[in-house]
Amino acid sequence: MGMRLGDVIDDFCVKCKRLTNHSIVSLLNGSAAKVRCRTCYSDHDYRNEQAPPSKKDLKKAALFNAVLSSVAPAAAEEADGAEPGKAAKKPGKSLET
Ligand SMILES: [Zn+2]
Repeated sequence: MGMRLGDVIDDFCVKCKRLTNHSIVSLLNGSAAKVRCRTCYSDHDYRNEQAPPSKKDLKKAALFNAVLSSVAPAAAEEADGAEPGKAAKKPGKSLET
């Protein structure tokens, strides 16, 4: 939409971790496809000024997964004690017993 190569537009730079001036290095259907940060000169896909998921969010997701995986083995161990037959379903576990 009226964008041209070399035009300067705002976009979120993951390296600078903020909105910075970018120049358009690639166009697709008349709008920016790839841009280059004018601060750190790194190229990346134009992200419509959207910030990617923050580290905090990723950490939260990782924590959530860690909790899930720490709960699951404990439950499995209890199940092993109560029902030895279930241990056979888990490769590796059967070698220990
Ligand atoms: Zn940058």
